[in-house]
Amino acid sequence: MANNAYDQMVNDFMAKIIAKNQGEVEFHQAVLEVAETLIPFIEENPKYKAAKILERIAEPERVILFRVAWVDDKGEVQINKGYRIEMNSAIGPYKGGLRFHPTVTLGMLKFLAFEQVLKNSLTTLPMGGGKGGSDFDPKGKSDNEVMRFCQSFMTELFRHIGPNTDVPAGDIGVGGREIGFLFGQYKRLRNEFTGVLTGKGREWGGSLIRPEATGYGEVYFAEEMLKTRGDSMKGKICTVSGSGNVAQYATQKATMLGAKVVTLSDSGGFIYDPDGIDADKLAFVMHLKNVKRGRITEYAEKYGVEYFPGLRPWGIKCDVALPSATQNEINEEEAKTLIANGCFVVSEGANMPSTPEAIAVYQDAEILYGLGKAANAGGVAVSGLEMSQNSLRLSWTREEVDGRLQVIMKDIHAACVKYGKRDDGSVDYIKGANIAGFVKVADAMLAQGVV
Ligand code: NDP
Repeated sequence: MANNAYDQMVNDFMAKIIAKNQGEVEFHQAVLEVAETLIPFIEENPKYKAAKILERIAEPERVILFRVAWVDDKGEVQINKGYRIEMNSAIGPYKGGLRFHPTVTLGMLKFLAFEQVLKNSLTTLPMGGGKGGSDFDPKGKSDNEVMRFCQSFMTELFRHIGPNTDVPAGDIGVGGREIGFLFGQYKRLRNEFTGVLTGKGREWGGSLIRPEATGYGEVYFAEEMLKTRGDSMKGKICTVSGSGNVAQYATQKATMLGAKVVTLSDSGGFIYDPDGIDADKLAFVMHLKNVKRGRITEYAEKYGVEYFPGLRPWGIKCDVALPSATQNEINEEEAKTLIANGCFVVSEGANMPSTPEAIAVYQDAEILYGLGKAANAGGVAVSGLEMSQNSLRLSWTREEVDGRLQVIMKDIHAACVKYGKRDDGSVDYIKGANIAGFVKVADAMLAQGVV
């Protein structure tokens, strides 16, 4: 079929999605990227077309929206919105993180839940897809305020989740502290100690390597992509955005593999350290961000390097870019600058960090582009391993979990190659990841009938 016939089908499909989900721009963006690669595939596989699988996976199985009322330290009542999107359970219980950030909307969480379905399928583990969160901002709140918020949030959420139903985890603004408060309240309400959340502390059901998993996986994926060109991470200059969970461990693993990470950022700006962020400097960042909850500008003050307020790090010369902060953080101009400066690998730790225009720039330049759905799947993969350990009431060693993570990232890469290899031998990772993720979910949905 001619390409323009596919374009027309994509346009018709998207017109319906936009009409049904008005104003949800991030959701439209995520669905469009998938539709562009899946519609030609579905045309070649009519069984999926007849059963309207694409239309069905773009509609959440269930959306839960609730009020979260809590009392701040001044005694004032605060009201936030709470959400859980239970997107698709064809291959396992809903699984996906909770995001606490003032910009959270229904559309943002639907984009994340939609991505999560295909990502979880790619991990090869039996996990459906979901996502949730709140417009609550943990920044500047006391530990007691965060605890009261989490308790109120869970007081509604607990009735909708469970180890065989829906297993939330962390995301932006939800780390070990928040998972602890949420788990404590779930346990109190249900009178059950079960693996209902992942990202738990080691002493109470958490898995070794879960904190590291997304950032490590992002770098393992970059290494796999580099291998296709007979290259490796060793000696590469890397720019990393963000300075939270994913950014910290991407920095650690890249450094362990012999690369030099020269930037980190937060919503205030970025730091540029041409000497590289070594293990000691990273320990400072981890204390700054995870304990002190301070700003990245303090790194510049401590180590006497440059700080660029209000900017993102993509103007700094690098070989490998590891976006690890948030969605749409690399635009077309920034993508062009990256490539003009010699960057030839982008491995996404964040979800959808590149705009569609930036992705077109990568594709034109034929760089190695690992989209988030594939490159950041290590986090949820180890969450899946945490669920397995909880069910077995066992705790695997660091080496065992890291070994399994590496195998999973290699398998995801191989699946992308299987479905995304072009005639000239290069790999279209977008096509590969979307089709590989889709096939497993679609076949399960076919087997389970029209539900
Ligand atoms: P954290 O909350 O630990 O860190 C987020 C980092 O990104 C912080 O440095 C934060 O800066 C920065 N950031 C957040 N929002 C913005 C924004 N709008 N503009 C600029 N900077 C911003 O989150 P994670 O590290 O867990 O998540 C980072 C990304 O990785 C997200 O896209 C998430 O969906 C994705 N991801 C995470 C997984 C996980 O296991 N945690 C799994 C798979 C994907 P500041 O503190 O100033 O807000």
